[in-house]
Amino acid sequence: MITLKEALRLNKDELKELKKDLVEKIEETRDINAYIDVKEAGEGIPIAIKDNIQVEGWSITCASKILQGYVAPYNATVVEKLKSSGLSPFGRTNMDEFAMGSSTETSFYGKTLNPKDHSRVPGGSSGGSAAAVAAGVAIAALGSDTGGSIRQPAAFCGIVGMKPTYGRVSRYGLAAYGSSLDQIGPMTQNVEDAALLYDIIAGYDPKDSTSAQIEHIPVAPNLNPNRKMKIGIVPNYIKDASDEVQKAYDKAIEALKREGHTIVEVSLMDAKYDIAAYYITAMAEASTNLSRYDGVRYGFRAEAKSLKEMYQKTRTEGFGDEVKRRILLGTFVLSSGYYDAYYIKAQKVRYLIKDEYKKVFEEVDLILSPVAPTVAFEFGSKKSPLEMYLSDVYTIGVNLAGLPAISLPVDETKEGLPVGLQLIGKHFDEQSVFDGAMSLERALK
Ligand code: GLN
Repeated sequence: MITLKEALRLNKDELKELKKDLVEKIEETRDINAYIDVKEAGEGIPIAIKDNIQVEGWSITCASKILQGYVAPYNATVVEKLKSSGLSPFGRTNMDEFAMGSSTETSFYGKTLNPKDHSRVPGGSSGGSAAAVAAGVAIAALGSDTGGSIRQPAAFCGIVGMKPTYGRVSRYGLAAYGSSLDQIGPMTQNVEDAALLYDIIAGYDPKDSTSAQIEHIPVAPNLNPNRKMKIGIVPNYIKDASDEVQKAYDKAIEALKREGHTIVEVSLMDAKYDIAAYYITAMAEASTNLSRYDGVRYGFRAEAKSLKEMYQKTRTEGFGDEVKRRILLGTFVLSSGYYDAYYIKAQKVRYLIKDEYKKVFEEVDLILSPVAPTVAFEFGSKKSPLEMYLSDVYTIGVNLAGLPAISLPVDETKEGLPVGLQLIGKHFDEQSVFDGAMSLERALK
């Protein structure tokens, strides 16, 4: 598939031809199930859209039965921004239901296969977007990242995925999961494309009250892989990763040294605290955000004799198991008797995590970290919800702290499975994140 940079130079006829090929190729790769539906909104360069981002007039399902039949009444700000830059939404990509998951196994529309190995998950929750780019059936895609959902599927499928600083990209028109954590970001074939797409969607938006009133200076025109930076590595952190991930980590360190960067050992607190703080926070926010799906205002409505029964049946039949589990746990941690013990405590831990990153960033420009403890795992191999949650250990701290980070392919296993790593940056310093990633990408070529 041609890159976004190349696509930006196509004329109208070439673009038409490209879209025709794309539709055919999507049909041929139907078994991967990267797309829930293929549609087009506008005549620009086709960009695949995760199915939790609103495109006016299109269905939006969040891969849940409960949104069946619901049509988006307005465009998300990121969609408006795509359109004004000559890009257009092209297809709704599959995901974990309401973005809750790390494998795209919980979609009401069936799981998505990893294009590199069909017996393995593509990662999640933006598994459809990652698989579409990796299989060559999307030039680029948008995903959303609450606790790793852009970076981890990018790593599992061998593409680039970037989560901007919290507040950098408008959440207006993104179906909320964990409102204090969610960010939309680019999923692309290379680092430069990610920078190009990021520039298009970033910037202050008065329609999102959490959008940062900080000027967005475009990163793509200023990309500089020759800048020498101080990059922190976290030996205490990576010891729990698989041998394959550790090998990729060493390879990346060597490559960064060759590029002239200074490697500094730093330490972060045990990531088990990230898991606890993240899942309490995310589930609490999810339980309130998902209370709006009541059978009255959106999509699916179950038949019932009374209003109360209608609410109950709609939510019982409309939500999948994982979503229900999180609503239950989220309601529990917010309940009056347990609020201090769980929710407030999680916020205190969150503050400590943020503070710790801040201290580390007084010393370094970027941190190199694994994205996941392993490569893409096999379908059904996580035997409990907790096991699945634990696999998010390397990504969720970044969301708790609101930092920008990029995941890029660094190595391949003997079986040809991609290993991705991430570079984490300071708040609103996306430029360094992209510069560092470009330098690493170049060194690995
Ligand atoms: N796997 C994490 C979760 O299930 C993150 C998902 C996401 O980033 N949307 O909450």
